[in-house]
Amino acid sequence: MNIWGLTTVYSILSFKLFKWQYYSLVFFNLVCASIYFVTSLKPTNYQRLSEAIKLSHGLITKHSYYNINVITKCIKMILGYFMICGILKFPSDYTPAQLIYGELSKAWMYILNHYNHRQLLIHGIFFSHALIFWSASILTALVDFCYPKDIKIYKVQDEKHIPLKTWLKCTPLIVFNEALAYVLVNYTYDAYNTFNYDGFSPIVPDMLTTVFSLATFGFISEFWFYMTHRLMHKSNFLWKYVHSVHHQIKAPSVFFSLYTHPIEYTIGNFVSLALGPLILGSHFLIWFIWVILSTIDFCAGHSGWHLPFWQSPEFHDYHHREETDNFGTGLKIFDNLFGTVGDYPEDLDKVYTTPDYSIDKVLKGL
Ligand SMILES: [Zn+2]
Ligand SMILES: [Zn+2]
Repeated sequence: MNIWGLTTVYSILSFKLFKWQYYSLVFFNLVCASIYFVTSLKPTNYQRLSEAIKLSHGLITKHSYYNINVITKCIKMILGYFMICGILKFPSDYTPAQLIYGELSKAWMYILNHYNHRQLLIHGIFFSHALIFWSASILTALVDFCYPKDIKIYKVQDEKHIPLKTWLKCTPLIVFNEALAYVLVNYTYDAYNTFNYDGFSPIVPDMLTTVFSLATFGFISEFWFYMTHRLMHKSNFLWKYVHSVHHQIKAPSVFFSLYTHPIEYTIGNFVSLALGPLILGSHFLIWFIWVILSTIDFCAGHSGWHLPFWQSPEFHDYHHREETDNFGTGLKIFDNLFGTVGDYPEDLDKVYTTPDYSIDKVLKGL
């Protein structure tokens, strides 16, 4: 960790300081960040970069590496300063957790007094999913069409492009599946109500319950998705008439994550996400977090780009390319258990906070 990172962490940990101490810390942090920023524009490893440039047939250049380096550093600085600004607002007699919990409780009470439960569950869950899915789809579609020179190397399957006519051909089914999701969320609300769960209690769930519930949802979703997905590959009938639709796209983009047969969308995708909250009878706010996290997860898995700060899409991208292995959600629990992890460079399968993915990718001969 560099000195800028250390001062950021120190500022976060020392949230009970006096105002003048805060400001001197922020000033010190600004100076460190400026020094760090100016002195670290050069690649950290010249030899690896030069070797990668030689092997990349013009895909990676010193210029493009510098550009991405500047962008990643800017993002780190912005994130750091957002954190510090957040901390500066905390009054000294509260911990950040207490303050967030207090504000959340007030907001939740307000929402409960103004909306009925059906509206909350259906609109809260459906529209938060739709907002993330459509914005991520449009953003990655723009990047796919513009295909900027500097970031070409971050495309997982850089030799493959989805032609415009495929985008147009697939749109009706994707829109249909979104409409289907809206109907299915309605049925999920009815199913949830039959169990008399207390999902709309005015008490906001604590951190431990939230983390435990999310981990359980993740496990249930991994189990259900792995089993149904693998079955669709095993059964000739299901492959031919159902799952091959999703596999028409060999090098995915976010938009095509919902390009599935409606039967697969209902049984495989939707049930894998709704099952956990239904079994546990979870609080609405935990559902809400789960829907946001899982939508981000499947959008990232189909993005086709492995940019810095971006969740790795390598695992599911491999599955689309090879039509075998990597059947799970990316947690790899059942793929490891049943020996179905594909032969792909797992050490690239991480979130990069530097521009080095391009170098690693080229040096591995991909
Ligand atoms: Zn598949
Ligand atoms: Zn897929």
